Amino acid sequence: MFPLLPHAFAELSEDFHTRQNWEGFDNPFVVTENLDLKNELGINNLCDQQLLNIFNGTEKIESLKPLSMVYSGHQFGQYVEQLGDGRGLLLGQMSSNSGLIDIHLKGAGKTPYSRFGDGRAVLRSVIREYLCGEAMHALSIPTSRALMIIGSDEMVIREKSESAAILARTAKTHIRFGSFEYFHYNNQPENVKALADFCIDQYPTYFSSATAAYEDFFRVIVERTASMIAHWQACGFNHGVMNTDNMSILGETFDYGPYGFMEDYLPSYVCNHSDHQGRYAFKNQPYIGLWNCSALGHALSSLISEEAQGEILQTYEEIFQNTLAQLFRKKLGLEKNQSEDATLIQGLLDIMESEKLDYTNTFRNLTQGLTNKTTPELDSDIAKSWIISFQERHTKEVLSVDKKLISMHQVNPKFILRNYMAQEAIDAAEDSDFSKLETLIVVLTNPFEELEEHQKFANKSPAWAKDLEISCSS
Ligand code: AMP
Ligand code: MG
Repeated sequence: MFPLLPHAFAELSEDFHTRQNWEGFDNPFVVTENLDLKNELGINNLCDQQLLNIFNGTEKIESLKPLSMVYSGHQFGQYVEQLGDGRGLLLGQMSSNSGLIDIHLKGAGKTPYSRFGDGRAVLRSVIREYLCGEAMHALSIPTSRALMIIGSDEMVIREKSESAAILARTAKTHIRFGSFEYFHYNNQPENVKALADFCIDQYPTYFSSATAAYEDFFRVIVERTASMIAHWQACGFNHGVMNTDNMSILGETFDYGPYGFMEDYLPSYVCNHSDHQGRYAFKNQPYIGLWNCSALGHALSSLISEEAQGEILQTYEEIFQNTLAQLFRKKLGLEKNQSEDATLIQGLLDIMESEKLDYTNTFRNLTQGLTNKTTPELDSDIAKSWIISFQERHTKEVLSVDKKLISMHQVNPKFILRNYMAQEAIDAAEDSDFSKLETLIVVLTNPFEELEEHQKFANKSPAWAKDLEISCSS
């Protein structure tokens, strides 16, 4: 039995969603299923075919009340009146050790919010979403995670004809900043309030301290957003489409589209080729996170005074900076907090930028700087003098070198998801070979292990991959 319950969101009025069934595929098959997540959710008694039958709609759970959610949002800075689950469906929810979990389908057919879209997702984009969710989870970054990819023989048109697929994913919530914006801009303050009340009631572990309920509600969202983005910056992750409709109110990374993990350190890195202005460039993410929080604040203005909003928004920068500084200190193997640390970290980033060093590998190999071995990255004169300050700084630490090396290797991944890796797995999957996908899943779910047999995935991307263009089309 799948302990899947109707989602509490279905009890909200019809202003919030449309209840509906969905369209599975005629000839569905399992591309991959997430055994690790099945274990965590306690549903490993269900075999892949049973799950497929449920997610494809072949086997109906009559008690469910599947629905598509309405929302709007700011896309690239412009307000768009109505978005919503154009190809998404909230199937239900289940309880887990870490609270309630949404089960959602992406690519399950048209909904009233599909606009001009076909309601489908392509295999390429669901593989990218699956892989990134697992990669982020393994890096301890809050994220949605996929449970299964269902493949099909159905073709859909994007820039070319592509195979359609369905992603079954989990997230703590699918309520977005844009969910509030929709009701605010439609002059429905009573629904803004109903939605905030719903969130406070549904997610008590997040919003339990609510004394001045709505202020605290907003404060928690701002805190979690700042912290999530600090985690992105620390691992070199570029989301690519930080529109307010892609921002979870619980600070989970989700709606993976044209994301990218930065390779050579470049603050102006833009992973999304459709983002011509570079609005969502790597270095802009912290600022855009704040911009998005203030857009949410505006949508909550019937509940929270401007003054209180301003005071809460002011906490963002400090939380972001402190979290990032803490993460960088760990990456450098430092436990104590010293005033010179910011200069030390910036010094390293400057070297990485001017010498076009691989962000992931430079951090991973820093341990060699501690043991007086030369590191492949840091061998210029300026880099060598940085290593000396790094070693000097370490004399103020108490841990033994061995322990430092272990802890540094636990926070500096050897493996990240480089675009070409996803692309190779996608190309093979489009030819019905899922073995590369399975290998990548092993590598990305163990990013801190040495995995010598997979050494090639720790190397910089091959030359052909430099021109890979990832756009919004999905
Ligand atoms: P995304 O870029 O995936 O966050 O999607 C932005 C909006 O476009 C959301 O409202 C999606 O539901 C909608 N959308 C994206 N692709 C499709 C599609 N193929 N069919 C219908 N709606 C879509
Ligand atoms: Mg989206």
